[in-house]
Amino acid sequence: MKRNTPTGLMTTAIHAGETPDVGTGASSPPIHMSSAYVSHEVSGFSAHDLTDDSPYCYTRWANPTVAMLEGKIAALQGTEACLALASGMAAAAALFFTFLSKGDHALVSDVSYAGVAELARDTLPRMGIEVTAVDFSNLDAVAAALRPNTKLVHSESPANPILRLTDLSAVSRLAHDAGALHSTDATFASPLGMDTAALGIDLVMHSITKYVGGHGDAVGGAVAGRADPIKQMRVEAGIHHGGILSPFNAWLIARGASTLPLRMKAHQAGALAVAEWLESHPKVTQVVYPGLASHPQADLVRRQMSNTSGMVSFQVGGVATGEALAQQMIDRMEVIHYAVSLGHHRSLIFWMETEALMNTSFRLEGAQRDSYRAFAGDGIFRLSVGLEDAEDLIADLDRALS
Ligand SMILES: *Cc1c(COP(=O)(O)O)cnc(C)c1O
Repeated sequence: MKRNTPTGLMTTAIHAGETPDVGTGASSPPIHMSSAYVSHEVSGFSAHDLTDDSPYCYTRWANPTVAMLEGKIAALQGTEACLALASGMAAAAALFFTFLSKGDHALVSDVSYAGVAELARDTLPRMGIEVTAVDFSNLDAVAAALRPNTKLVHSESPANPILRLTDLSAVSRLAHDAGALHSTDATFASPLGMDTAALGIDLVMHSITKYVGGHGDAVGGAVAGRADPIKQMRVEAGIHHGGILSPFNAWLIARGASTLPLRMKAHQAGALAVAEWLESHPKVTQVVYPGLASHPQADLVRRQMSNTSGMVSFQVGGVATGEALAQQMIDRMEVIHYAVSLGHHRSLIFWMETEALMNTSFRLEGAQRDSYRAFAGDGIFRLSVGLEDAEDLIADLDRALS
């Protein structure tokens, strides 16, 4: 499909990035499992030779199946370009190591995916990059943390695992006024949950293991944005750091992405039904779901999210109660899998104790710790509502909670 043809979202999801196979006419795109490509002219073999019209040379540079997925994600996210990588963590590492150098400073959300939190807190300082972990729901704290050498502001919205939002357009303005790039991890929202271009975000990162792939069968990551920074990342993170996505995974994830608009509507409807049921359950003390009127940032949700996705967190008493209930879920649930990860057609649930997360990943103190606890108390169940019938998920949770 021609990239500039305006089409509806479903048509875009199905056709963007794809064309019938030139050699065979195959309607479904082939998987190009080739590491090397036959060359028709003598050429160089350096990343510095890469141009927009370079022919395929070696799959670490570019691969037609991976390029198909990249075209699809860019079209869904509404950006010029996209780089697909081996995992969501490879995408986070690509952002940090392409745009930060020794002596630079970065702001990173104080609550984020655990791997990103640990990479930012442990690895970046070892490379001579200063990091400040900031509560991005507090704009004064963001403004106060910016420094003359701040090069990257990396938010996550909604933030894993507590579903706290960042006012992304306000943070974009603060970052740009300070001369920094604003990148955001939008994995929980999917490429369809927010208009990231309108929110001024320079680079949008996703673990495409989650909603984009959607079926729990392939790990991958992506960063979408303007063509120039994406090309810079392709050279550094793809060609030089080598974290490229396998063509087979790209094919699986692209097949999933074709139905993303339908799936996100169904995730949202299912999550709302489950969240409302949980909110009415006598044993449940708090439910946090962006689609509920009770979300602590309901106004921001309305301004910023067009789809509230399928992630719900809820609390049931203190640590001992939560732990015992987690075991009861493992023993009693017949549909929902007790497992990490999210965004799949199968529903997944996982117990996350606050103190354990503080010790291993977040290490928050004072006001930042209080802000976390306002959402999570002593611990939460993080539920990724899949595409099963909501009544069956509710019956499963009822069995576990009784
Ligand atoms: C899963 C996840 C990641 C990491 O992605 P992988 O594909 O597991 O490497 C990063 N950010 C968020 C918000 C995630 O949920």
